[in-house]
Amino acid sequence: MLLRHTPKEIVERGALTINPAKTCQPVGAMYAALGIHRCLPHSHGSQGCCAYHRSALTRHYAEPIMSSTSSFTEGASVFGGQSNLLESINNIFTLYDPDIIAVNTTCLSEVIGDDLKQIINRAVVDHKIPPGKTVFYASTPSFKGSHVTGYSNMLSAMVQNFAGNTGRRHNAVTLLPSFIEPSDMQEIKHIAFELGLDYIMYPDTSGVVNAPMDGKFHMYPKGGTSKEDIARSGDSRLAIAMGRIGAFQAAQLLDSKCKVATEVLDLPIGISATDAFVDTLRRRAGVTIPESIRVERGQLVDVLCDKAQYVYGKKVSLMGDPDILLGLVQFAKDMGMEVLHVLTGTAAGAKWERRMREIAGEKAVIKTGPQADLFYFHQLLQNEKPDLLFGNTYCKYIARDMDIPLIRTGFPIYDRIGHSYFPVTGYRGGLHLLVKILDAFMDRQDRDAPEETFELVM
Ligand code: SF4
Repeated sequence: MLLRHTPKEIVERGALTINPAKTCQPVGAMYAALGIHRCLPHSHGSQGCCAYHRSALTRHYAEPIMSSTSSFTEGASVFGGQSNLLESINNIFTLYDPDIIAVNTTCLSEVIGDDLKQIINRAVVDHKIPPGKTVFYASTPSFKGSHVTGYSNMLSAMVQNFAGNTGRRHNAVTLLPSFIEPSDMQEIKHIAFELGLDYIMYPDTSGVVNAPMDGKFHMYPKGGTSKEDIARSGDSRLAIAMGRIGAFQAAQLLDSKCKVATEVLDLPIGISATDAFVDTLRRRAGVTIPESIRVERGQLVDVLCDKAQYVYGKKVSLMGDPDILLGLVQFAKDMGMEVLHVLTGTAAGAKWERRMREIAGEKAVIKTGPQADLFYFHQLLQNEKPDLLFGNTYCKYIARDMDIPLIRTGFPIYDRIGHSYFPVTGYRGGLHLLVKILDAFMDRQDRDAPEETFELVM
């Protein structure tokens, strides 16, 4: 009943967004910054912005997310936020002692036109930054883009500020993941480890936003990539961007700044995308595929073969973040599903749409950008109802209204737990995801079956 006013008839809209399928840029920038060891994200804007960014991340990860704010009031809004940021930098290093402060801008500071480079230079000149400490920034105006764009901008700022080319190449491969869960970052490291790959990965939020409870408060958990490793990435022989929207820009910058050869891949979600990731590492890094990885792949294929009848031919609709969607849609096609709708609030661009079209097929409705919102998604579903939905927590209203099972994927997930600990990337993540999909279909079959076809063995 919550969505009873959503009409079935679709009217094209030029400007209005109703229930956006995205969050704001600084949320992604903060998340990326948390993937550097002993880094404190700082939001250059009003307290309200920072409170929203923190609460989005805190609710999603069920962890206390540390960040600070320039706390703009009326004065800063009129005269600019330089004095606020200078005072913030001084206070943060005095009270919280991070090694790095990663500043993200907000709508307000962008509209005012604060020159962050100049302000940080001023902090250096005024000796507000202690020796060995670093302050850097990413521009993240949220009147455009999304949390994925913000993540990408912060990742590029890491390359810009830390990666250096010393002229002495080493063998490590740099892995640049798009906006994915800490469990997914852990899974990618697991694959790299099993392959015996010498690698650097950043950001790495595993061990930061899914750190174990040990009874003590850790302002800076053990996880996160060191700034020394990020600096070393400039001498890598190869960088692999895992995600066309969240990671490619940083890889391009690493190439232009440090002359590191780059390759862009889809996120390794499901069988074919993980095959492509593993095979690229095998070819480009000269490693062999060990038995352990073959076993993981074989187990995923085995379960899929055992239960293919529950997924084959089923209709699915997906909303979420562009890089994750490419992986999920590939996995859906791997399983013989029919993809009806793919929608992301991030303006992913023509190249992404072409790639998605290649995977999803001619019949799928694909829409990106501000008007690709949840209102439109609901309308699409009313016109052609799928058997299964993939999306974030906000999709639960649509799922309830239309009585469609929902697999929670992407960001944010406020009403379930587990995404921080159980991956969707790699073969093991694919198995986890497949089990969730099968559970959804089998639970539905059990719920709807008349007594004479209610099965014990499925
Ligand atoms: S959209 Fe802009 S004003 Fe709103 S919370 Fe994000 S940065 Fe702040």
